[in-house]
Amino acid sequence: MLVTENFSLAAATVAFAQVVLSLHRSLTKNRMTETVTSFQSLGLSEPLLKTIAEQNYTQPYPIQQAAIPAILKGNDVLGIAKTGSGKTAGFVLPILESFQNRAHAKNRHITALVLVPTRELAMQIGAVFQTFGEKLPRKVKTLAVFGGVSINPQMISLQNVEILVATPGRLLELISFKALSLSETRILVLDEADKMLNMGFADEMRDIFYLLPKNRQSILFSATLGDEVDQINKNQLRNPVRIEIEEEELDIELIKQTGYYVDPDRKGPLLRYLIKSREMKQVLVFVSATRTADNLVEKLRKNGIDATAMHSKKSQGARTEALNKFKSGKLNVMVATDLASRGIDIQFLPFVINFELPRSPKDYVHRIGRTGRAENPGEAISLICPEDVHHFNIIQKKMGKRVEMMESYDIELRGF
Ligand code: AMP
Repeated sequence: MLVTENFSLAAATVAFAQVVLSLHRSLTKNRMTETVTSFQSLGLSEPLLKTIAEQNYTQPYPIQQAAIPAILKGNDVLGIAKTGSGKTAGFVLPILESFQNRAHAKNRHITALVLVPTRELAMQIGAVFQTFGEKLPRKVKTLAVFGGVSINPQMISLQNVEILVATPGRLLELISFKALSLSETRILVLDEADKMLNMGFADEMRDIFYLLPKNRQSILFSATLGDEVDQINKNQLRNPVRIEIEEEELDIELIKQTGYYVDPDRKGPLLRYLIKSREMKQVLVFVSATRTADNLVEKLRKNGIDATAMHSKKSQGARTEALNKFKSGKLNVMVATDLASRGIDIQFLPFVINFELPRSPKDYVHRIGRTGRAENPGEAISLICPEDVHHFNIIQKKMGKRVEMMESYDIELRGF
């Protein structure tokens, strides 16, 4: 049964929609996406191209199209781009390439330094260097160091390291122990510079800049270009190539949105009914708490539906494995919290289900936006309990679009 809501959506705020309708699908200002560029044309050598193909990177992302040639030429680069844009490979690939003709520096003298705000990012980038460095004829030892763990093993591992990925505090600690030197560093990468500053690393960054030689290549990535980041840009970068990745605006009209009114005790069965009766092969289910995610996964599995939870309490390894299975279609259902879902890099999903609504309308649009694609729009379904009705009305008003609502009391849910 179709139920229509009775409020006016005419006053929906356009400004709000413009702010929130941004997704990870990116596009450069100069419309680089319109020309198809291959990795082969970017100046990378055969062994790297082989690994790129093995990683199923078929085409360079816009930031890679711009950053790889610029970095290979030795230019400084200022990149305004978020996680998900492909920025990591954008600097990892040309840096590894540049090492192929580079002599080894003295032991414990770091040639390329990548400064990052968090331990997670350090490990992630370290792993990308390992992956792409594996097949190169000229081996390059890379290490990721960060605080919160014992420093001694890191000091020992620094032996012969040429590329170091580090958080600022731990880097300075290691320097104070004379475990490494930056006096011969040729390349500096500042990744997520805005986050580094927000986390209070401004002083440490200044100390590190002071220790680095002036004659070096500097690459700065930041999601935003605020005053502080711009200051670093002006003081540390020399005539940088500026690359800006704009987030493509999503047309909300492309997304098929539906909702079911449902009593709380019928929510689980309704979810399973929808997944089974609609034969959903790839569905991202959103919940608001880690525990709900785990419980839901357990129930789905008991009912023969292949599901995994994605939340902050899962290890990085478990998350990556689940994501890869989900992306390749081997896992039908991923149950995620909003926080975990931000790291999920999937360009398009046929189904998103809001098992629980997010608190903020912005998160709602972020969730459903994953299904919006011109040629083949997916569907976003929200399960609405009586206590959610008011909140869902607010979300619809802010979004400026009414969601088609259905009753579910007449759906036979026995057996689900
Ligand atoms: P990043 O923004 O660097 O964190 O990258 C986001 C995700 O995009 C990572 O999971 C990468 O493995 C993936 N990725 C980066 N470049 C490409 C590419 N050219 N083709 C396919 N996937 C890519």
